Amino acid sequence: MSVWQRLGQWARQLGRSARATVSPMPEIPAQLWLSTLSAYPFLSALTLQEQSKLRVLSALFLQHKRFHGAHGLQVTDAMALEIAAQACLPLLHWGEPQRAMAWYDDFVGIVVHPGDAVARRKSMDEAGVIHQYDEVLMGEAMDGGPVMLSWQAIGAGRGSHASHHGHGGQPANVVIHEFAHKIDMRNGEADGCPPLPPGFMGSSSARQAREIWQAAWNAAYEAFREQVIIAERFGGQWPWLDEYGATAPAEFFAVACEAFFADHARFAQEFPTLEPLLAALFRPAQD
Ligand SMILES: [Zn+2]
Repeated sequence: MSVWQRLGQWARQLGRSARATVSPMPEIPAQLWLSTLSAYPFLSALTLQEQSKLRVLSALFLQHKRFHGAHGLQVTDAMALEIAAQACLPLLHWGEPQRAMAWYDDFVGIVVHPGDAVARRKSMDEAGVIHQYDEVLMGEAMDGGPVMLSWQAIGAGRGSHASHHGHGGQPANVVIHEFAHKIDMRNGEADGCPPLPPGFMGSSSARQAREIWQAAWNAAYEAFREQVIIAERFGGQWPWLDEYGATAPAEFFAVACEAFFADHARFAQEFPTLEPLLAALFRPAQD
């Protein structure tokens, strides 16, 4: 029986036992959980309390999501758990697990490709001419739809010698990247500004919270874009953060989230104006 089938069984038991006032805790098998933690230095580095909360969140995630392997890929329990644990990391300080999981309730499916996927794209230029092209994707998050991930790209983020996207050396993390887009999309299009908690950074209104966010992110994004342009055109030094972040504010937010979770110390050093904002978003004071 797979982990999520077992979890489904536990959940049903939980539903029955809730009425009987005994509530066995749905749990991920210990060995599987430990090997997931040890595969990622930033998961191993969490406190024991955070790890046990992440385990509960991951169990809920596995219970509610459906994994599909594309091109004959068999998604094993270990693979699903690896995805679940990283996807749930941003939810860690967002209150009760059930409530936190509501951030991901707009979709059920997670499609895992063995390698990077190729998507057929169409775009219209200013002259009204339609262009068709192929885009190579390590992952994709659709508003209200499934998340697509490349297992090969996930593997690149594993271990202490995680490979990097971009020139600068930021460790790659496609799972956090795509789920950051999902969080960003909770208040409309992915634009690099996710819903912000009440009282964010001492703000007294949602509007003020958004202004605080935009001011810091716009300035950092412009400076980052400039650094990437100088590196590209004039051989300047590449930034540490993946230069893909310079393609759009939403991508800048997603690669910043990858860095915030996967290499927090370096992110804080590189982006001292953004780190407090992500900390206020992902670790609100009430938790
Ligand atoms: Zn992206």
